[in-house]
Amino acid sequence: MSPSEDQKTIAEHLRQVRACIHACCQEANRPVEAVQLIAVSKTHGVEAIEAALQAGQRVFGENRVQEAKGKWPALKQAWPTCCLHLIGPLQTNKVKEAVGLFDVIQTLDRERLADALVAERERSGLCPELFIQVNTGEEPQKAGILPDQADAFIRSCLEDKKLPVTGLMCIPPQDEAASLHFALLRDMARRHDLPHLSMGMSDDYELAIRLGATHIRVGSAIFGPRGQTAPAAI
Ligand SMILES: *Cc1c(COP(=O)(O)O)cnc(C)c1O
Repeated sequence: MSPSEDQKTIAEHLRQVRACIHACCQEANRPVEAVQLIAVSKTHGVEAIEAALQAGQRVFGENRVQEAKGKWPALKQAWPTCCLHLIGPLQTNKVKEAVGLFDVIQTLDRERLADALVAERERSGLCPELFIQVNTGEEPQKAGILPDQADAFIRSCLEDKKLPVTGLMCIPPQDEAASLHFALLRDMARRHDLPHLSMGMSDDYELAIRLGATHIRVGSAIFGPRGQTAPAAI
């Protein structure tokens, strides 16, 4: 079976994004392995994801537990080396499902969720790698711990709850210079010796790489605009 036009487009987009990451890393004097590309496949169907897998992509991001549950168990079975990140808000009543499905949860942002993860670890023995989401722009509609509470929360997760937190994540406000937010997140991670920084999306991942991103979350630059492809069965 020859690949469809859509599949070829996704493979071509991936090549372009990878080339761009490469150039950016060279410019910033960072090893290219220091930056992980997370292909954000939310709203896109299994065929689009398969095309990215065929093109060698192994790390993916989804923002909804329900949607991911419809698409990923079968994909993970077919592609056992792939790695799935949760990049959207997590409700405490979905913790059990999320822990079973995701390799990394990037959106730990409150005490109650931390406690639910501790309880699930006690119950199942499982806990994915965790990033703490920081609401760097202090936007009321956005998830994430507020910057002035973040230091205490990070310490509490690491020291009291012994959760496997390895990094921080942010989504800067649309109408502000992302660089200030990326720098704030980077400095906060340094204070706590956290090695991972998830920042940068399709429009600003090059800037994020220059400011130290280790994980960039790229959706539309790979899969095209959202809302055109019908999501897979949920
Ligand atoms: C959708 C989404 C992305 C990807 O956005 P693009 O602009 O399509 O690259 C990145 N991060 C989060 C948290 C998202 O929800």
